[in-house]
Amino acid sequence: MKNYLQKAYGFDGTVRIYAAITTGMCKEAQDIHNLWPTSAAALGRTLTISSIMSCTYKAGEHLTIKVCGDGPIGQITVEATDGTVRGFVHNPGVYLSYNNGKLNVGDAVGKNGYIEVIKDLNLRQPFSSTCELVSGEIAEDFTYYFAKSEQIPSAVGLGVLFDTNAKVKAAGGFLIQVMPGCSPETLDTIEKTLANIKSCSAMIDAGYNAVDIINELTNGNYELLEERELFYSCPCNKKRFANGLMTLGKIELQNILNTDHKATINCNFCNKKYEFNSQELQELINLLDSKKS
Ligand code: ZN
Repeated sequence: MKNYLQKAYGFDGTVRIYAAITTGMCKEAQDIHNLWPTSAAALGRTLTISSIMSCTYKAGEHLTIKVCGDGPIGQITVEATDGTVRGFVHNPGVYLSYNNGKLNVGDAVGKNGYIEVIKDLNLRQPFSSTCELVSGEIAEDFTYYFAKSEQIPSAVGLGVLFDTNAKVKAAGGFLIQVMPGCSPETLDTIEKTLANIKSCSAMIDAGYNAVDIINELTNGNYELLEERELFYSCPCNKKRFANGLMTLGKIELQNILNTDHKATINCNFCNKKYEFNSQELQELINLLDSKKS
């Protein structure tokens, strides 16, 4: 299933809008990590806003986004570059809901904590900014992040909907950014619209595409810009993990070789397993030796 994002101007070019359909991406994340619904909703919302954010910054900018709340889910970690994301949650097995059956993402993530966004353009020192959580519901937290850390008045909508088998069936989100020169009347209109529209995931479940969502958000006053495809993808490989093992140092590697005769590493982002047998471990030790001399 194609994941994509549509950019647009709204209200005669005074607001920027990004609407994303991420059902496939959130399904993939749920399958990879075996996520229970509330964990899947929290990660899905974070993946969605991260994929949108990565399309608002400079090309090639690498984002690491951490949502660190005090709830049972623990830390949510997402990396995003140019619309390609990967992520994981500390505890995949959380299923918390309100009395009305709606998933309780706020309590599962926790209201006390912070969002950290690290931007790396590979040119200079990575730039990091943090901002406290508001509700743990993710959309509100990022709305506050944009206002406080980036000084951009914004509105964020995010949603992940599940079928009766607790599997993701619709997911997506939007980001509205107000540009200088936006009139108070427009702000008023946007606020009223946001208070009255269906949730993002309900719209997507009802068959809305990204343009339909933009149409809904702007009462038809929009101008379409580019469409971008979004992906869940992990670029990990054995060589990267070999380099990681080597950072443990010769003594530690020798220890592993002597006691376990092998090392197994699990990629947090895609759950792929990499195994290093005794011969491969010996080769890494030899490599460390040759570097020293
Ligand atoms: Zn991986």
